[in-house]
Amino acid sequence: MKRICMIVLCFVLCLCSCSDVYRYTSTEFYSMTTFVNVISDGDGNFDNVENYAKDFENRISRTKSDSEIARLNRDGSAVLSEDTLSILKKSLEIAVNTDGAFNPCLGTLSELWDITSGKEYVPDKGEIETALKNTSYEEVKIEGNKVTLPKGMKIDLGGVAKGYALQKMVEIESSEKDANVCVSIGGNVGVRGSSEANRKNNKDGWNVGITNPFDKNELSGTLTLTKGFVSVSGAYERFFEKDGKVYHHIFDSKTGYPAQSDIASAAVINNDGLEGDALSTALFVMGSIKAIEFYKENKYNFDMILVLDDGDILITKGIKDKFTVNSSAKGIKSDIKVID
Ligand code: AMP
Ligand code: MG
Repeated sequence: MKRICMIVLCFVLCLCSCSDVYRYTSTEFYSMTTFVNVISDGDGNFDNVENYAKDFENRISRTKSDSEIARLNRDGSAVLSEDTLSILKKSLEIAVNTDGAFNPCLGTLSELWDITSGKEYVPDKGEIETALKNTSYEEVKIEGNKVTLPKGMKIDLGGVAKGYALQKMVEIESSEKDANVCVSIGGNVGVRGSSEANRKNNKDGWNVGITNPFDKNELSGTLTLTKGFVSVSGAYERFFEKDGKVYHHIFDSKTGYPAQSDIASAAVINNDGLEGDALSTALFVMGSIKAIEFYKENKYNFDMILVLDDGDILITKGIKDKFTVNSSAKGIKSDIKVID
């Protein structure tokens, strides 16, 4: 009897201590013009992640005068570090594969519009045409680590930088004892393992909320994932309004104006942070018809959730069972359409 009591006691103690071992901590810091949030059950020291984000920003930002990209843009030619070069090469490859919907050579155009400066400046047609002449991604020359831009071109990696850094931060944070990790930066989230709340409820994964593009204070739905990246692009992220018109930060490199899209937000779910970030920007620019064609071409391995301007939600089949729509969200229709 005494032995049975001991066994029962051990079992109860084990159950208690198992649910007590979840020690999640979190941090928040500012980098790449937005807040980075990290939650994990690692050792609670986030220095490596934070240092990485700051170093990375110092290398890649087009607005930090000492960065590799700022030097390249200023001098027209520069020898880049392996890492920065690989990001540029991958971005140029995606530009080719998306027929310029994603274009990392829009720096002159981004500078002209300067959407987040608060100036609310709408350039005239002539200025836009001049800027557009300097965006031909096929003309970037790469010899070894040396990159040369055609005269007048500037690189803008704003559409991929957060996604790339996100993947690195998730890798850094989870390298330690295979931690359960969630990192978010701007419209990008990367996860490994499970959240504390889900584990306590014997469930797996992290619940990743997708912002409702019609009301930033609520979610259009929630995705539950144990591994991967979610990158979301939408006009609602950065914009200004002038004379009743909205001018946002995602440009159509064929017109030089903010992309006219029937997509309110494009979310890409995949296993590559840079690719997901670039593709969400590209899908937004393409609009829903081209975005679906592009998905079916299978050039990249990804799932997507498109929230259209009319409130329809289109979702690819690989992710449909992991997504729960918020049927009470403003402007959202709850009968989801699945893309095969
Ligand atoms: P995201 O929020 O990831 O969609 O990226 C938007 C950012 O990417 C903008 O703030 C610009 O810096 C840059 N960008 C804007 N339009 C494009 C485009 N068509 N292709 C690539 N980058 C772009
Ligand atoms: Mg992007």
